[in-house]
Amino acid sequence: MSPAIPERGGRPRILVTNDDGIESRGLLALAQAMATLGEVIVIAPDTNQSAVGHSRTMWRPLRVRERTLADGTPAWSIDGSPSDAVGLVFLGLLPGPIDLVASGINHGANLGDDITYSGTVSAAMEAVLSGCPAFAISHDDFAPDDFSLAAAAAVVVARAILERGLEPAQLLNVNVPAIPLDQCAGIEVTRLGKRIYQDELIRRADPRGVPYYWVGGPPPTGQAIPGTDVHAVLHDRVSITPIQLDLTADRFLERLRGWELRLPD
Ligand code: MN
Repeated sequence: MSPAIPERGGRPRILVTNDDGIESRGLLALAQAMATLGEVIVIAPDTNQSAVGHSRTMWRPLRVRERTLADGTPAWSIDGSPSDAVGLVFLGLLPGPIDLVASGINHGANLGDDITYSGTVSAAMEAVLSGCPAFAISHDDFAPDDFSLAAAAAVVVARAILERGLEPAQLLNVNVPAIPLDQCAGIEVTRLGKRIYQDELIRRADPRGVPYYWVGGPPPTGQAIPGTDVHAVLHDRVSITPIQLDLTADRFLERLRGWELRLPD
């Protein structure tokens, strides 16, 4: 088990990040929620980095700036990805230990296959790679204005992780439906569901007549299979999915060995 409440005593130190960028209201809501549990350190991308996945910046320098959130909370922004933000902290950018990484509150759900694109979830993965427990939390609304349910869920999940710890290389992916706290039907532990993407390739011409392409289309839906994150959020429940970084397809492993693949003599 990873360490739970820090043995050194005192309040836990919680790193708050996101992929929507430093000015996101979801980031502010998460920072305020985590401040009820411990000392909060905020670092986030300086622009919206949604859907960058687990990218790291390798071929240019990174700049970090001191910032202030809308409520006066001191923060840092970085001109990189969410994983850059988390990675740099664990490489010593900021002094002191981190007990928990909280990523979000993302504007838009991260359900099923979304987690393979998600910068929000990848920031939590980056923390786990550094041996720190982490969770990601996302709101099933691309322009949320009520964070009451998401903030409450974040506190419940963060407190549980701090008290109980997580297994190494595992994290929690939390999604909340787009309803207020008092209308929520509770919490459901789920498995990843199946997204249905409705992307459309938009082809237009620039002012000089040269074609450009932009992926458009309506937001994704999903297969409403009971027990999945997609189904839980559709039925007004907070979804909590345990995620592991080991992507090995265990059920395929023995069959693949049975293929007896050999190099040519
Ligand atoms: Mn995002």
